Amino acid sequence: MAKIVILGAGISGHVAATHLRRKLPKKHEVVVVSPNSNYQWIPSNIWVGIGRMKSKKILFPLAPLYKKKGINYKQAKAVTFYPEGDKKEQKPYIVSEYVTGEKKGQQEKVTYDYLINATGPKLNFEATEGLIPGKNKTYSVCTYTHANHAWEGLSALIESMKKGKKAKILIGTGHAKSTCQGAAFEYILNVEKELKRHKVRDMAEITWISNEYSLGDFGMDGMLMSYGDMIMKSSELVEMIFEDRGIKWILGAGVNKIEDGIAYYENLEGEHKVETYDFAMLIPAFSGHGFKAYDKNNQDITNKLFKGFMIVDADYTPKPYEEWTVQDWPETYQNPNYKNIFAPGIAFAPPHTISKPRKSKNGTDIFPAPPRTGMPSGITSKLVADNIIDAIKKGDNSLQHKGSMGNMGAACIASAGFGFWSGSGVSITTFPIVPDFVKYPDSHGRHLGKTFGSIGLAGHWLKLMLHHAFLWKAKMRPFWWLIPE
Ligand SMILES: Cc1cc2nc3c(=O)[nH]c(=O)nc-3n(C[C@H](O)[C@H](O)[C@H](O)COP(=O)(O)OP(=O)(O)OC[C@H]3O[C@@H](n4cnc5c(N)ncnc54)[C@H](O)[C@@H]3O)c2cc1C
Repeated sequence: MAKIVILGAGISGHVAATHLRRKLPKKHEVVVVSPNSNYQWIPSNIWVGIGRMKSKKILFPLAPLYKKKGINYKQAKAVTFYPEGDKKEQKPYIVSEYVTGEKKGQQEKVTYDYLINATGPKLNFEATEGLIPGKNKTYSVCTYTHANHAWEGLSALIESMKKGKKAKILIGTGHAKSTCQGAAFEYILNVEKELKRHKVRDMAEITWISNEYSLGDFGMDGMLMSYGDMIMKSSELVEMIFEDRGIKWILGAGVNKIEDGIAYYENLEGEHKVETYDFAMLIPAFSGHGFKAYDKNNQDITNKLFKGFMIVDADYTPKPYEEWTVQDWPETYQNPNYKNIFAPGIAFAPPHTISKPRKSKNGTDIFPAPPRTGMPSGITSKLVADNIIDAIKKGDNSLQHKGSMGNMGAACIASAGFGFWSGSGVSITTFPIVPDFVKYPDSHGRHLGKTFGSIGLAGHWLKLMLHHAFLWKAKMRPFWWLIPE
């Protein structure tokens, strides 16, 4: 009998748990340790943040589903890793801490045969002074509670605009090395559309602020894409969209401090500037969770497991941008020191960024961290689950299931306004996510036929369809496994 422990019940953790449970006989134990009582479909937070969807529509409680399906669930957070066990415990284990109920604060050893670390990112608001969701007029849409706050802030502002008050709205990244530009891009387009719907668009100045060097970088170094019969740069596409909607932009900006309605930032020229606002949605930096690891003699071995995020089969050798290759990226998400530990989704340490690193004239790093969107999070998690299933069922430890962000695509459908007939969407599909300059030397490292953009109502429908399809899948409704990751 094998015991697989999964840390986190986000896209990655939940995908792993559901596939493992479906494919493994019941004698094997699948345990999920995660602090949030709910599963949330994060991409739809954008619609919660504009008041067009209630957060209850994007979440469901995990405990009843897991109970029904035979997945053990602990509403707890992982705290410390003991991949060799200790003097008293032969088996590897993690220490978890309950976050609710009678056992709140209580710690427990959770032993395992296989461990999947799917804890995603820590939303590191503390990395930017004063950036606190719901305070200083700044908001976030990274979780459903944040998105609820964001809508409260935005709706109050809309009401004041209706009474004749002009407003400044700032949306983008809240740290010099934030990622997830795509989510902020989606939010700014939705906010702009909502202001029009509420007939107050003329009362607001809307500004995009970002650590990107050029528009449409999205932490992926931008892309050359097909757009209808044309070939265009993602920077041109986003510029066209912003100009069309009267959205201003500030680029190469590393926001480093927030005060009530004031964002302080440094730009690549090394200038220290400020931007004032009445409402801001700024994505924080992401970091690892700061876990510690110990060997069986209680010696600190954190650096064998973590490099901020978890160490996997990537090539972490430091090298200049010009020498980066697509082969640096991991394929199996297995920790090289402890072969029964895996880290799919956002939890793994990337070998380097995808966007070209840039420094300001003062030496401050200002460029996006690599994004890891939902589709690769699901795919990498499923392949980890399949390799564990092969090891348990066939004794095959050869890790046949592989997938790198250098041979995987990402479909990003940024809704650009809600409404069955009046909605819109900007769909950007990129293949591969990490550019491969050897395979695709003439098209900025990407396959042009598979890297394309489009704008229109169909994009909104697709996004809505994905919302329903992925919640159906997550709820393990009939034939859920037929829906791809
Ligand atoms: C607003 C927004 C919109 C987005 N839109 C899109 C989109 O349209 N398309 C797309 O492809 N991607 C989108 N993304 C990105 C996508 O949401 C992420 O790629 C995906 O959620 C990553 O999955 P994950 O499981 O690795 O991490 P997460 O989803 O962050 O899950 C991490 C899990 O770990 C748990 N956890 C945290 N700490 C611990 C601990 N100590 N112990 C145990 N568990 C822990 C958390 O509670 C959570 O359950 C969006 C992101 C945001 C913020």
